[in-house]
Amino acid sequence: MTQLVWFRSDLRTRDNPALWHACKHIEEGVVGVVFVTRQQWLQHGLGERKIQLLENAMLALKSELASLNIPLLILPANTFADCNQTLQRLIIQLDIRSVSFNIEYEVNERRRDIEFGRWCREQQVELYKFHDQCVVPPGEVRTKQGQPFKVFTPFKRAWIQQAEDIMAAPLPQPGPCEKNIQAPLIALINAQASLSLNTDPITASADPLWPVSEEEAHLRLNNFAYERGIDYKKLRDFPAEDMTSRLSVYLSLGLISARQCLHVALDRNNGLFSGGKPGFDCWISELIWREFYRHLLVAFPQLCKHKAFKPETEQVCWRDSEADFQAWCEGRTGYPIVDAAQKQLLQEGWMHNRLRMISAMFLTKHLLIDWRKGEAFFNKWLLDADLASNNGGWQWSASTGADGVPYFRIFNPTTQSQRFDAEGQFIVRYLPELTPLPAAARHQPDSLQRQRCGYPQAVVEHKFARQRALDAFKQTLTAA
Ligand code: FAD
Repeated sequence: MTQLVWFRSDLRTRDNPALWHACKHIEEGVVGVVFVTRQQWLQHGLGERKIQLLENAMLALKSELASLNIPLLILPANTFADCNQTLQRLIIQLDIRSVSFNIEYEVNERRRDIEFGRWCREQQVELYKFHDQCVVPPGEVRTKQGQPFKVFTPFKRAWIQQAEDIMAAPLPQPGPCEKNIQAPLIALINAQASLSLNTDPITASADPLWPVSEEEAHLRLNNFAYERGIDYKKLRDFPAEDMTSRLSVYLSLGLISARQCLHVALDRNNGLFSGGKPGFDCWISELIWREFYRHLLVAFPQLCKHKAFKPETEQVCWRDSEADFQAWCEGRTGYPIVDAAQKQLLQEGWMHNRLRMISAMFLTKHLLIDWRKGEAFFNKWLLDADLASNNGGWQWSASTGADGVPYFRIFNPTTQSQRFDAEGQFIVRYLPELTPLPAAARHQPDSLQRQRCGYPQAVVEHKFARQRALDAFKQTLTAA
């Protein structure tokens, strides 16, 4: 019996439960399939650069699988509905009786899988689904009352109890697929031709900043774990230092799994989830934030529809200033740390976590612009764009989310800048026009310095903006 593995946001061969299952139960051969769903991705607000990266990751997967004797079909489909139709024809054509995939948790993806599952049942095709994106499957970390956690710290405590058992097991590694020596390649080629499928729907060119392959992801993980992880807690908040792992891009594509990251971190932390070395304790905690947001997304599916976690905050009177929004998008707010952060995003497709918080809070508090506009902008430009973490981060910053920052704790961008980029090194990397200024002036140049450097005046004054945000939130929350 030929096994079909449907790859999605799990574009790797190692520690891939669906692939491992197929390789273990092989009788005739294993075939992989993955869809290039451009139209659907654009509908989900992804940017061109991220789409290119996804396509490159598929090509990398194809060559990794080839070394295991497993052919990968990269097929075009406009939407998720098209994926199902194409897949059903392929299954019939190749007489496949068994399909496996790793579960995706977003609403449209789940709807697609429910439809597909129904068809498989009707056709008596065996379907095997696996939890893969989280270390502990969503839904399995609950309060004593059986409710999902809404606050991070108790979630983390309960999560660790379950993760300890899960991480004690070895990671699944599919071996080479011997049976595929006489692989169903001919059948595949015939099927493709008769389905009129374009074999190569990909036009991607490589992104020099973000080479995509499993090997690269593991290089970055090891480099972080052995060179920088130990100092992570001390230095992670300083954007000029580049002390974080930058693995988020690889995690979002599934080139590496959270389990693989955690394995290495535990190895470096004497097997401890916490109470070990501060650097690794802290990094493990960040991986748990990622899990927390995914668990929330599944427990509260309204988050997928960009609804506020706290319904009362839906009434906040957000400002509708296109000019201010554009200034923020393009890095022209006149607040150097915010502008440098935005430039980093536009140039690199990635932004440091401290800056994401500063920038998101600036948009939602100083400019009082709806967090959903910022969320969509980040989603378009971030190469690690991920619905759960992006939504979680934005709702945290906007004080509309589960365990978000209290609305009255508004970051002052200038003091944040002085604290986390004291010499203005990060600022001038992205705003070279401010290089002639002494370090102390780079955080908030005066009017004359701005004119000389060709740097814009501030779009809004800090004290005024802070009070305006406090009033808007107070008004809404006292009315609720
Ligand atoms: P490291 O510091 O090395 O952390 C390791 C891993 O832990 C990360 O790769 C990531 O998977 C996870 N992680 C770390 N911090 C967080 C966090 N606060 N929340 C959730 N997971 C975390 N992360 C995304 O992956 N995709 C997004 O679209 C995204 N959008 C965000 C938007 C806002 C407004 C904010 C405040 C945060 C957002 N984050 C997002 C979380 C975080 O900023 C990034 O995960 C982190 O900066 C990635 O860099 P790194 O890989 O070097 O992280």
